[in-house]
Amino acid sequence: MQALTYLEEYHSFKEAALNSRFLKHKTIQQLIKKLPEAFEQRCIGQSHEGRDINLIQWGNGSIKVFLWSQMHGDEATGTMALFDLFNFLQLPQFQEISSLLAKSCTLYLLPMVNPDGAERFVRRNAQQIDINRDFNHQVSPEARLLKNTRAEINPHFGFNLHDQSTLWSVKKTGKPATLSYLAPAFDEALSVNEVRQNAMLVIAQMYKYLNPLLPQQIGLFDDEYEARAFGDNFQAAGTSTILIEAGGMFGDEEKQEIRKYFFLSILSGLYAISTRNYVEEPLQHYFSIPKNNKEIFHILIKNLLHQDIRVSIGLSYEEEPAEQGYATVKTYTIKDIGDLDHLGAYHIYKEETLQIEGPIDIYQPANFTLKKDNMILLSFKNGILQSKL
Ligand SMILES: [Zn+2]
Repeated sequence: MQALTYLEEYHSFKEAALNSRFLKHKTIQQLIKKLPEAFEQRCIGQSHEGRDINLIQWGNGSIKVFLWSQMHGDEATGTMALFDLFNFLQLPQFQEISSLLAKSCTLYLLPMVNPDGAERFVRRNAQQIDINRDFNHQVSPEARLLKNTRAEINPHFGFNLHDQSTLWSVKKTGKPATLSYLAPAFDEALSVNEVRQNAMLVIAQMYKYLNPLLPQQIGLFDDEYEARAFGDNFQAAGTSTILIEAGGMFGDEEKQEIRKYFFLSILSGLYAISTRNYVEEPLQHYFSIPKNNKEIFHILIKNLLHQDIRVSIGLSYEEEPAEQGYATVKTYTIKDIGDLDHLGAYHIYKEETLQIEGPIDIYQPANFTLKKDNMILLSFKNGILQSKL
């Protein structure tokens, strides 16, 4: 597994038609149509608003692997990575690894589970249902399709592809969790059986390949049992299920860098499955992956003299969809005031002579200007960033 080479060659298989998080069903349908014969495709049903949902099948091996993405409409990184994978698998220079995968595995791919949500760039489907909390009641057509597809294929492995909040960090690093992995629990006791253990071991291998490329930026996601979620239920049903979450990365708000590492995570997982190398991996290597926590802000202003005391101020934004699902608006809120020495941020302001003009009110939208020697470094109006240096 030549992880670094694949990263360096990424430009040769990056799907250029997908260049932002705001990708839509129409675009991916055109890409699916253009796939060569080796990628068998069939429409397995429709979303609530009638958009076709396609399943793509590739490879001839006996190990069945099911990969599904964008169950949450505003989580598109996994979808972009899957289309990069489709291109990668067709390129002659990567034939050695693609032949190995094709011989060992049959891949079943569902690149956009929630096209109606993607259209609006929201988490939920058109019925306002969170598909990943609808495994049991099955009120959404998308949850029914996903559940039935797994039951029909009965795959050995599953890849559950999501994006997480950019405010997850890797414990004790002050860095964002650019990627998080998890073998979801199948019961309240967080038991480990062979099915879950296989997922853990594959993750340990993925971590081994990715960690040198993203040091201190990969975390283990919280494994609390969620009885309504797909990962937990698929694990219980006998499919070794691997969750991959794309988080944040310095300077990569549109996630076009993270996308590369997401692709590499999928590829290294498939490689581990194909070679069965994971069976040699000590289980301890899964549990020693650092945990995720929330010790990061989007903006941190350090040691500011404010109302005669020295304090740090942490701000983070919430994103709301805008421009018909083709953009977002970010509203910044003051999340904490005080001793924030142990916390990190995407942007840190820590000069000695910072001055602030305007109110600093905890839990309120940012509404101030930050200056240094009368030069504006940052300025917010009702939570909206006006300028940033
Ligand atoms: Zn999600």
